[in-house]
Amino acid sequence: MTELRSLSYEEMTDLMQTLGEKAFRAGQVYDWIHKKLIQNYDEMNNIPKSLRQKLSEHTQLHSIKEADRYVSEIDGTTKFLFELFDGNIIETVLMKYHHGNSVCISSQVGCRMGCRFCASTLDGLTRQLSVSELLNQIYYIQKTTGERVSNVVVMGTGEPFDNYENIVKFIKMLTDERGLHISQRNITVSTCGLVPKIYELAEEKLAITLAISLHAPNDELRKQLMPIANKYSIEEILKACDAYIEATGRRITFEYSLVSGVNDSKEQARELCSKLKGKLCHVNLIPVNPIEERDYERSNKESVKDFLSVLERKHINATVRREMGADIQAACGQLRKRYNDEQKGGI
Ligand code: SAH
Repeated sequence: MTELRSLSYEEMTDLMQTLGEKAFRAGQVYDWIHKKLIQNYDEMNNIPKSLRQKLSEHTQLHSIKEADRYVSEIDGTTKFLFELFDGNIIETVLMKYHHGNSVCISSQVGCRMGCRFCASTLDGLTRQLSVSELLNQIYYIQKTTGERVSNVVVMGTGEPFDNYENIVKFIKMLTDERGLHISQRNITVSTCGLVPKIYELAEEKLAITLAISLHAPNDELRKQLMPIANKYSIEEILKACDAYIEATGRRITFEYSLVSGVNDSKEQARELCSKLKGKLCHVNLIPVNPIEERDYERSNKESVKDFLSVLERKHINATVRREMGADIQAACGQLRKRYNDEQKGGI
C-alpha cells in the first residue's frame, strides 16, 4: 500500500485526484506531514473526517517508535534507537554544534558492503529504508526535541547509493520549501564509492556535499579493508569525483579512518597526497573506532598528528574529526548491534 509520507507533492496531488478530492487538499495534507510533522491521520484537524478515513483506507502512515535513547554526558550528543513498523531497529544520532543541530541518519537496515572495520555490516543487509523512514528520523527528532534540525548527514548504518532512488527523492523532499526546507548545502551523503551512482548524482545537480570513504591510498590496501574496492578502483572513483566537481562546483570530502599500523604511516599519507593533488577536496581523518569483532586498533595521537601534517605540508585541506558521544557508543552501528544481540539473547 502507498506510504503517504513517501509521496512527493506531485504524487500527493495525483492521489487526491484519484480519490475524487479537490486539488488544494494535497497542499493541506502535505503541510501536515512535512511541516507540522504529524505521525497520525487524526492529527490533521482541518481535513474532513471523511477524507482522513479515505486516506487511512488507501494509504499507510507509519510512525516510528523510540525504542531507546542515550544522551552523552560529555557533549549532549543523543543517540536514538528507533523501532520501525515491522520491528526492525535503526539508529539515528543528534549532534549539537554551535552552528546548529546535525542529525546523522541511517540509509538502510543493515548493510551489505562488508567494510572490515564497520559494525553496521556484520549481520548483512536486512532491507532498504523507504523515503518515509528516511524523512521520519529527522521529523521525529525535530518534533520531540523541539529543536530545529539544520544539517543532515547520511552517514549512519547503510550504503546510501545502494538505496539510490529513495535517497535522491528524500533529499529533494527535505530541501523543498513545502517541507522542512533544509539547505542542500547542509546535507552530506557518504558513500563507499559506487562509481555509476556518483555519475548519476552529478547529473541531479544538487548542491549537497558528497563524501567518499577512501581509507587507503592504493587499491591493494583498500581491498583489504573494503570489498567494494574489488569492483571499483581508486582511479575510477577519482575520475567520477572530477565529474561530480565539474557538474556541481562542490568540494568533495574524502573520509580516511586511521587504523594503527595498517593505513596510518607517513609514507601512506604521502601516497594519498599524490592521488589527491590539485583536487577540490577536503580530507576528514577519523581515528578508527575499534569494534570487538575485529582486532583493528585506533592510531595513536602521534601518528594522527604526523599523518595530518604530511597532508598540510602538501597543501591538501584536512582536519581530524572531532569525536562526539564517545561514552554512548555513538559510532557506526555499534549500539544497534548490541541492542539486537541482547534481544536475541533474551528470547
Ligand atoms: N556506507 C557509507 C556511509 C556509512 S559509514 C560509506 O561507506 O561512506 C560512515 C563513515 O564511517 C564511512 O566513512 C565509514 O567507512 C566510516 N566507519 C565505519 N565504521 C567505522 C569505524 N569503526 N571507525 C571509524 N570509521 C568508521
